[in-house]
Formats: sequence, structure tokens, C-alpha cells
Amino acid sequence: MTQPSLYWNPSSRDWTAEATGAVVAVPAFAGELIIDPGAVAEASRDFGRIVSRRPRAVLRPRTVDDVAKAVEFCHDHRIPLAPQGTGHMTHGQRLVEAGLAIDVTALDTVHGQGPDEVDVDAGVLWSDLLTVLANAGRRFAGALTGYVTISVGGTLSAGGIGPDYKYGAQIDSVARIQIVTGRGEVKWASETEHPDLFDAALGGIGQVGVITRAVLKLAPVPTAVRSWVLPYTDSAAAFRAMREVNRRGALDELFCIIAPPGALAPTPTFLVHVGLHEYGAGSASEDLLDDLDPQGPVQEARLDYVAHVTRYSALMDQWRAEGWDERHKPWFDVWHNDAQIDGFVTETLGRMTAEDWSLPHGKGFVLLHPHRAGAFHRPRLRLPREHPDGLVWLFDVLNSSPADPEPGYAENMLVRNTNWLNAARAVGGVSYPIGSQRHTPDDWRHHYGDTWSDVVRAKMLYDPARILTPGPGINAAVS
Ligand SMILES: Cc1cc2nc3c(=O)[nH]c(=O)nc-3n(C[C@H](O)[C@H](O)[C@H](O)COP(=O)(O)OP(=O)(O)OC[C@H]3O[C@@H](n4cnc5c(N)ncnc54)[C@H](O)[C@@H]3O)c2cc1C
Repeated sequence: MTQPSLYWNPSSRDWTAEATGAVVAVPAFAGELIIDPGAVAEASRDFGRIVSRRPRAVLRPRTVDDVAKAVEFCHDHRIPLAPQGTGHMTHGQRLVEAGLAIDVTALDTVHGQGPDEVDVDAGVLWSDLLTVLANAGRRFAGALTGYVTISVGGTLSAGGIGPDYKYGAQIDSVARIQIVTGRGEVKWASETEHPDLFDAALGGIGQVGVITRAVLKLAPVPTAVRSWVLPYTDSAAAFRAMREVNRRGALDELFCIIAPPGALAPTPTFLVHVGLHEYGAGSASEDLLDDLDPQGPVQEARLDYVAHVTRYSALMDQWRAEGWDERHKPWFDVWHNDAQIDGFVTETLGRMTAEDWSLPHGKGFVLLHPHRAGAFHRPRLRLPREHPDGLVWLFDVLNSSPADPEPGYAENMLVRNTNWLNAARAVGGVSYPIGSQRHTPDDWRHHYGDTWSDVVRAKMLYDPARILTPGPGINAAVS
């Protein structure tokens, strides 16, 4: 089907099907440029359901050339634009008011796969890719997120943190990316080709271009994953156990879900999750849990690799079917260094209300992810890096509103997040900007700290018209 001709009207700053007046013809695309208001509704929101911004058009590209033509056109006419994955950041990061949304999920081809690398379009979902790789005896070599029904380009723009505590973020296991810069140029970037662009794009929240393709590092897939859940009612014992698992390094996965007071015990229960990748018979050693001293019955499971890494997607997809999508999700995510995490978590848990725990409906998580600081190498993902031999911890409060929240719920939660982030910063904490945080220009400058001049330099070079990805508010800080 041939796409009908569309035009850009520079005076009304809108797209039109009418070739009248001083309009400019929009390039022809192999994919679709959609201007129907009904069709742009989905592109106006994200999973947080707190912020809504309406683009004037959505491009569903079929090729990288489509993306390049669209970005160049937007650059020339100063039209704001935002790449969109599956929309799982929660505070408008992928939204653009009155501009162009590029639906990257329309690019979803796995181009080539060898034993060590796979070359995929940025719109491929991790959930699909995992299965393709496992069928070929491989897995992504780096960290997987807990929820995997999200796009490769989206998590590479965020960082990608999961239970694989030894490998840093997802972006630490990327060999190359193809990216369309804010000038509409198509470039490949890696540690050796355009390294400044590689640094600026990975974990860079869409600020220097649209990632269209990625070459990801691979490893052999385990035959199964054996996992255990160790409960602790005493936070000090839980932290001790997690530090011990990291020190020994024998287990492959480590993270913690904190259950609300009253669910399993009168105080919050730390459910420390550990996992072992098994490669053939006899690889599991029985003394792995020695001296971890859990304070309740240990649950154990052994699952096929894909079933293991998609288990939370299955749970959340069930919640989604039950209306979770429509609830507000004022998510809070912060990094701490090893010296500060126990105190911050204990204090924050002590102050948390039933709403912060997503009670009474229970559709939320409070999480802790310990990681080896020295495994993180990409500069746009900010975390406390003073102690490369130590641990850094991601603490997330991923709560959701009641189905019918009180007026002011979202605003109160945003104020809560500002207060919590200020308290975290006072002891060296750094935001992981996937959640619902109002970042002022000063907040962004503070966030990037001594790398701020690199952020500005990359913006000047790769997005000189400042059209890219206005949602997080970084453009306003650079201008
Ligand atoms: C249920 C759930 C669980 C999650 N679990 C984890 C977890 O365990 N660990 C973790 O680290 N994160 C987690 N996240 C957060 C998730 O990693 C990020 O929200 C990620 O950005 C999701 O990808 P997406 O495709 O939805 O991106 P979107 O939300 O669509 O986009 C995110 C940002 O990246 C930009 N962007 C998107 N695609 C591209 C592209 N191709 N090129 C350039 N910029 C682009 C967008 O403009 C936007 O600013 C979770 C989120 C949810 C909702």
C-alpha cells in the first residue's frame, strides 16, 4: 500500500494531508507516518500513567533509512522527536508534545547470530530474543532485567539492571550499536568507532540519537537455573548474607525482594533470591548456602533457563491483564554505595506507608540489587563509583496506586520521590532515571556531576538542534 503524501506546515507546526499554502513535502517512507489523532493516543502515554503528552504524528519505520529521513527532516524544521520503545519508563521519558514519535518497536528483525554475538534491531523485545538465543544454545552474556517484555533499544537507553550481579548493567555487554544521530546521520559506534557516541547513547535516555540496531555479546545458555529464596526478618542478617554471596562469587544471581510488614512477619521480610546456572549434570554444589543463616524456610526451584528469566514477566503480564496498566506507578529508583545502603533502606522502610507498599492490592515491588561496582564501564549510567572493588546497590520502590486513587495521589507520590531522592543525595545516592522523578535542569547537572561537560559536548555535536527526546528534561538543562 502506498502511503498518501503528507506535508509539514511550518506556520501551524503541524502535519497535514492538504497540499495548500506554504507547506513542505514530507519524505516518502517505506514504513508508515500516522497522523490520525486516534492512532497517536498510545504514543501519548507510558506505563506510569502520570504524565501524558501528545505527539502530532507517529512514524512506524520499516528501515533505518526511514528513521534517518525522519530525523533529518525534524532537524531541518526544528520538530521535537522522541524514540519510543514499549513505554516502560514511568514519567514521560519517551513522550513528546506536538512533535514526532518514532515507534522503534516496528524495527524488530534479528539480523544475524554467531556463537559470540547477535545483531538485532533495537525494537526487538528481550522476551522474544531470549527464546531465539536459547534455541541456538546461547544467552545474552550480560545482565538481564527482571521484566523482559521490553525493547532492546529501551533498556540500552536506560542501563538495564538485574539479578546478574557480576556483569554490571546490560549496556556493559554491548559490542556495537547503530544509531541515527540528531542530524539524521547513520553511524555505527563501539569502544573504538565513535567512542564518544557509544558512551553518550548507552544509558543516555535517547539524548544523542535513535538506536536502531545493536550487536550484543553472547555466552552459552545454562541447561537449567537452580534458585533459592532465603527469608530474613532482621535486615542486618539479610545484608550480611548478600555481601557473603557476593564475596564468594559462586552463585550467578543475587537480588532481594522486600515483603511488607504483616505479609510474612510483623516487620518487613527480606527475601534474598540467589540462583545458580547449571551446565549439565552435577554442576550444583550443595554447600552454596552454608553459613547464610536464613531466618525461615528456604524455597527452592529448578527451571529451564527461559522459564526462569521470564518468570516475573509472566507474573506482571497477569497483573496487566487484571488492570495494572491503568494504575499510577510513581516508581522510585536510587543507587547507593555499600557504606550507605543499610541505613538508607532501614530508614526508608521505617517511614513507608501502606500506599508505598502498594497495599492492600499488593501489585508492587520493593527491591534491592547489589552489584559489583567495578563491572560498570559506561559513563552515562550514573552510580556511586568511589569504590570500584566494592558493591553498589540499586534500591527500588515500585508501587502502584489503588484502581481508584484519591485525588492528589500522583502529586503526593512525586513529592515523596523528591524528598527521598534529596535524602539519598545527602549521603551520596544517585537516581536511576527510569522512574517517576521530577528532574529540574539543576538536578540533571548534579546528576551527571563531573561528566556534565561530556553530556553537553555530545548534545552539541549529535543533537545540535536539541530536538531529541525532550521527556526527561535534559534539553532544558543543556540550553
Ligand atoms: C514492569 C517493569 C519492570 C522493569 N524491570 C526493570 C529491571 O529489572 N531493571 C531495569 O534496569 N529496568 C527495569 N525496568 C525499566 C526498563 O528497563 C526501562 O523502562 C526501559 O527503558 C524499558 O524499555 P522500553 O522499551 O519500555 O523503553 P521506553 O520506556 O519506551 O523508552 C525509555 C527511554 O528511552 C528512549 N528510547 C527508547 N527506545 C530508544 C531507542 N531505540 N533509541 C534511543 N532512545 C530510545 C525513550 O525516548 C525514553 O526516553 C522495568 C520497567 C517495568 C515497567
